[in-house]
Amino acid sequence: MPGPIDYSKITITPDFDTVEWWMATKEHKYLVRQCKDCGHKWFPPFPACNTCNSMDLGWFETAGTGVLHSYIVVTQPILGAFVEAVPYVVGLIELDDCHEADGSLVRVGGVMLDDEEDVAIGLPVSVEYEQTNEANIVVPRWKISGTAENTWKFNE
Ligand SMILES: [Zn+2]
Repeated sequence: MPGPIDYSKITITPDFDTVEWWMATKEHKYLVRQCKDCGHKWFPPFPACNTCNSMDLGWFETAGTGVLHSYIVVTQPILGAFVEAVPYVVGLIELDDCHEADGSLVRVGGVMLDDEEDVAIGLPVSVEYEQTNEANIVVPRWKISGTAENTWKFNE
């Protein structure tokens, strides 16, 4: 498991586009933005639908499970908060229950709780919630939750 993220060294300030998302993570719910006009879903939240330009937006609550679609390994901390955490894996996760109208899955990014040697593309993952030093800020992390056939890893 990677080292801890030192949340005392970063300030997470929910803004107009993310405040509801942060309220949900505090309740251990994982949301993605959803357009009320065309149904398009995306993450991270931003203020207009990039499919139909609508600003009439809502949220889609996912079960917080998916499949690791890809990943990178961060070895250089760009913020002091991550000095003890490197190396850590940032995953691109295809959510199990979050589909676009054409059937394609919605992908979200997240910091994994697993070490690089335990991570492989194709493995199932699930979200876990990490309380920070700020009472109102809970950060979702992702963790390998099982096994799969035909997984794939990047070569060093
Ligand atoms: Zn739309």
